[in-house]
Amino acid sequence: MELLTAEQLKELQDKWRISKVETILSEAISIFGKDYISFATALGAEGIVILHHLYQMKADIEIFILDTGLLFPETYALKEHIEKTFGIKIKTYSGISLKEQEQIFGKRLWYRNPDLCCFIRKVLPLKKALDGKKAWITSIRREQSLSRANTETIMWDNKNNLYKVNPLAYWTWEQVWDYIKKYNLPYNPLHDKGYPSIGCMPCTTPVYEGEDWRAGRWRGLKKKECGIHQ
Ligand code: SF4
Repeated sequence: MELLTAEQLKELQDKWRISKVETILSEAISIFGKDYISFATALGAEGIVILHHLYQMKADIEIFILDTGLLFPETYALKEHIEKTFGIKIKTYSGISLKEQEQIFGKRLWYRNPDLCCFIRKVLPLKKALDGKKAWITSIRREQSLSRANTETIMWDNKNNLYKVNPLAYWTWEQVWDYIKKYNLPYNPLHDKGYPSIGCMPCTTPVYEGEDWRAGRWRGLKKKECGIHQ
């Protein structure tokens, strides 16, 4: 793949920092080509904002979810609801089955070795999803955690060897919810029950007053990322 020069990358970062989400998305699709860029979502509030933009733009790019087999029933129901409401298909990428994982690594690997579990159920399926792509779009924001504080609207993703476009990098949580309310968009009901960040059932708890957005993920452990972003 032909890489952007350091100057081109910096120029885009500066420009997109103050661009509208639809501008970032349409320029990114035009730079990389619609078959070479895809949108990864866990269907959190931020993901809904980007999905709605893609829907309004009639953007013909792949949208996918990493299905670990351990997502909340609310997340699976939301996926179906969004597919119907927006008339889109959200592709699913998965790793080995939970049964196979148990046979090889034993019961409840997520409690004994969450890094390995995330690697099997998220990192490897993401590699499959991004194979042959030049860029992927995510909905991560700087404000979400310290580990995401340096997120730019476009960056080189060393882990996956392609560009990563983060149109909401500079958005606040309030902006996300203002947008959802303005367009009356569907969202995961767990957000109303204290879950700002929603991952797999065994590794996600609600967040309490004063904690950061990802405090409920792998509660009690230093781990705050599944390995697909950091
Ligand atoms: S979040 Fe938990 S259950 Fe999900 S893949 Fe990671 S360790 Fe496994």
